[in-house]
This record gives sequence, C-alpha cells and structure tokens, in this order.
Amino acid sequence: MDKEQFKKTQPIVYKTLSNALKRGHLAHAYMFAGPKSASVQEVALLLIQSVFCPHRDKDGFACMECESCKRYAANESVDVQWVDKERIKKQDILDLQERFSATAKEKGGKRIYVLENFDQATPDSSNALLKFLEEPGEDLFGILLVENPNNTLTTIQSRCQLLQFRAGSYRYVKNKLENITNEENADMLARSGYSYEKAKQLIEDETFEILRDSAKQYVKNIHSLRAVYFMQRNVFVAKSDITTKEWVRLWILWVLYLIRQKEQTELSFEQNNKIVSILIETLDLLARPVDLLLCLDKMYASILKVCR
Ligand SMILES: [Zn+2]
Repeated sequence: MDKEQFKKTQPIVYKTLSNALKRGHLAHAYMFAGPKSASVQEVALLLIQSVFCPHRDKDGFACMECESCKRYAANESVDVQWVDKERIKKQDILDLQERFSATAKEKGGKRIYVLENFDQATPDSSNALLKFLEEPGEDLFGILLVENPNNTLTTIQSRCQLLQFRAGSYRYVKNKLENITNEENADMLARSGYSYEKAKQLIEDETFEILRDSAKQYVKNIHSLRAVYFMQRNVFVAKSDITTKEWVRLWILWVLYLIRQKEQTELSFEQNNKIVSILIETLDLLARPVDLLLCLDKMYASILKVCR
C-alpha cells in the first residue's frame, strides 16, 4: 500500500480515517464500498495496522514497517479475523464469534474482523451479523467490504459508516505495472481499474496467463461454437479452482479489452458495440449472487447470436 497514492486517489476516505485514528475514535463498523479494483483490501489492512502500530505517522496511519505492522500483514494475530469467502454464510459469522470468544485478547485489547464480499452474503448471515453489530463490545470493530452497498440490508447499512472508494488511477497503475509485466498486461489491468497491489497479485498467479491466452483464443474464434466448447471443456469447468467470480471477472475483462482494442477485425462496428454491452451486462450480473456457469453460458450464446 502506497500511502501517498492512497491520499491522492481516495482523498475523502483518507481524511475520514485519518481523523478517526487521530482522535482514537473509530466507528464500530465500516463499510468500504468500491470496485474490486479500488484497493479496498489494502486500505482495510492499513486500518488494522494503524490500530496497533506504535509508530504512526502524523496523519495517524501505521508505519507499515515495524514488527507489529508485519505481523498484521502476515495475518498472524488472533485478534484479527479476515473472512474472504465468495459468499459468506451464517456459519461463518458464528465461527467468527466463536473464535473471538475462545481466545484471549493480545495486548492492545482491540479486535477487528473483516468480511469480504459482504454484498454477496446470504440473508441468514446478515441477520447473524446484525446481532453482532447490535451489541458491539467496546473494543470490537468490523470492516465490511462490498462492491455495491445497496445489495446489503438497510439495517446493516445503518449500523456501518459508509466509505465510498473510487477506481484506481489509470496512468499511475499502468506505469508501475510496466516494471513487473509487459505493456499489454499493464494496459489491460490499469484500464480495467485494478489497483497496483491487486493487479500484481493476479499477475503472480499462473491462472492469469491461462485466462489471458484463453481470452485471446476465444476472441479470435468468436464466431464459432468451437470457441465456446473450448471454454466450457477446458477453462471454466464445474468445480475447478479457476471457476470463481474473481477469475471469471478477469477473463471477461480480458475479452472486453481485446474487443475494444479491435483484435477481432471481422466484426462490424455495430457487432462490436453489441458484444461490449453483453460483456458489461454480464459483469454487472456478477455483482450479485449468480450461478457462474449458467451466467457464462448465457453470455456465450448471446455473443454467438450477434456474430451470426
Ligand atoms: Zn508499524
């Protein structure tokens, strides 16, 4: 996390958290809302580090370098519980409570939980969390990460302080990424709005190349049913490790990027535009709880129709 960049790209979030940290008065729960790309996870970690760091800067944020900061970055403390499931269920919330009550607090006496993708959580888990939020302990607070706050219960929203994030800045992210990857990867990830940290994490995973290559292959043969079969049989297969929202989203973003770069020269201007809308609609659908494979099948079929 680059704090200077954080200050520049998310000035309102920066100021709000800085004031709370300086006053030593954090909300019982924060809802960080923003696109997956907007460094919400990194800011959540920085906030956690800032609560415990003995060497905070003048704005109240952690130094990010001391022993304490490193421990929280490695997620080694029982006082911080980070739940990063795609769809949080009631049992996950109960487990979280159980883990907190089963362990003694470390020094500092504060406890924090982070719930990722909370706008995808089951209604049951929201109700379980509500009970948790209704009796907040003095030293317990939560950070809920969501893409769209409107997909959460209003009763949850009203108990959280909402902080809205903006997507990362294109030029900054692209320049920085060019130090670790090729120009095309950097351009695609920056245009798609990923933060540098998130993009770096994706590039370091071998799935990234598989998805980039299969997106290229798919776009090249976009008129043909064979391209669809290839995706269905070799890439997004039921129960495979890469059939997750995050990877499906990345693959669609690759296809979108390639179509916008006019990699497929046989398509007319109008066909191109129609495909772009289908891809964007599918990305919107992914923000809700959906059956991934069904969602993809519908998308392949609509695109084939446009091409014929
Ligand atoms: Zn520190």
